[in-house]
Amino acid sequence: MIKPLKLYSTNLQAKTVSFPEALIKGIAPDKGLYMPEKLPHFTQEDIAAFSHMEYFEIAYEVIRKFLVGEMEERVLSDLVKDAYNFKVPLEQVVDNKYILRLDQGPTASFKDFAARMMARLMNYYLSRQDKNLLILTATSGDTGSAIANAYYGLDNIRVLVLFPEKEVTERQRKQMTTLGKNVQIIAIDGKFDDCQAMVKEAFADSGLDHLNLSSANSINIGRLIPQTVYYFYAFAKLRKGKDDEDVIFSIPSGNFGDMMGGVMAKEMGLPVKKFVVATNENDVFPVFMKTGHYTKIEPSRNCISSAMNVGHPSNMSRLIALYGGIMDEKGAIGKMPDMDQLRAEIYAVSINEDETRNTIKGAWDNHKVLLEPHGSVAWAGLNAYLAGHQVDEDQLCISLETAHPAKFPEEIRRILGFDPALPATLTGLEDKAESFDSLASNYADFRDYLLIKYK
Ligand SMILES: *Cc1c(COP(=O)(O)O)cnc(C)c1O
Repeated sequence: MIKPLKLYSTNLQAKTVSFPEALIKGIAPDKGLYMPEKLPHFTQEDIAAFSHMEYFEIAYEVIRKFLVGEMEERVLSDLVKDAYNFKVPLEQVVDNKYILRLDQGPTASFKDFAARMMARLMNYYLSRQDKNLLILTATSGDTGSAIANAYYGLDNIRVLVLFPEKEVTERQRKQMTTLGKNVQIIAIDGKFDDCQAMVKEAFADSGLDHLNLSSANSINIGRLIPQTVYYFYAFAKLRKGKDDEDVIFSIPSGNFGDMMGGVMAKEMGLPVKKFVVATNENDVFPVFMKTGHYTKIEPSRNCISSAMNVGHPSNMSRLIALYGGIMDEKGAIGKMPDMDQLRAEIYAVSINEDETRNTIKGAWDNHKVLLEPHGSVAWAGLNAYLAGHQVDEDQLCISLETAHPAKFPEEIRRILGFDPALPATLTGLEDKAESFDSLASNYADFRDYLLIKYK
């Protein structure tokens, strides 16, 4: 008999909890992040069998192993089918190199993959306990709309999203502010890191306990588990069936939730030769990998891949934990991880703004592949890795595209001279009425707002 999953806190000062508890709590009482004590395992035969399955069927097979004893398989089967009702294209660029397009969900962001599943899991567990939650989340652009859309209209959950007023595009804002119902949006006169700090402070504020706050940022383990699935999917679909086949993934990274999904998938048996972890000019992780010193970037640097403008990635402590180290929520390292193993498995690279723009141009001119700034950072990172290392010419490489190019029309127009076609999910926003509040970047004001609005 397989026992239900237990999760520990990366700060190691809190009790282990079950998956439903970790999901509802979000962050551990010691401010650490929940991690599974033991990850499920998939054999090469299991993975080969995924080759013939639909995305939602693979999601069922993977997530099921995390939820043993915590959810009836029939219920889970319905949830994944409902969550993953869109396409997940793999687009060949050249030879055995592909773009995995994670941009076909309702908000045209890869965050739909995690948010839609997490919302459905939470709603299921809350309805069984007759409980209500207020989801508090900070966004640098895409998380907010993915979360707001994923939870929109649910009975037991209200959503409050904070975004940095000047750092999101008009379309990103409208994807959040035109919803209404159980979704409330606040524009903060500050940066993403300020929004995230305010949210974190609210979670730590015992005077707000009665509001039942929960998080939907990538600090929630309920976001990471669904993000392991598309790594299995992409490899299973592109494998040729040879014995020692493996894959290089390139991941555009900000808070490193996406990367953690990949790293966990590898731990679970996926044959990953290398992860290219590509950041924009917020290079705290590439610098750490090079020097062993972790120095937060404050304030974070403004880059066109705005969803990755993160100076202290919130999943850092999870990565460190997986490699045997300890890092607290402030970024202080209590015990160094195994740097040799980290460096053997992960190639970290920072891509500057010029390279990001040139890569969008090059991919279009040379391959007729349309990238947006985040996917461009990943593709540039992959090429930087391939240029500096001995890799077989037919090595399978998969670079993740995390947003739809139509979400960045100004940038694409400037670089390529045309407007990317809007996907159906993004049309009609211009005509809808917006509603949101505005606040200074100040915790006391935010606290008052919460107490009045949600009393
Ligand atoms: C959030 C986001 C990222 C970064 O993902 P992390 O999990 O935070 O590393 C990359 N691209 C886009 C478009 C995003 O919205």
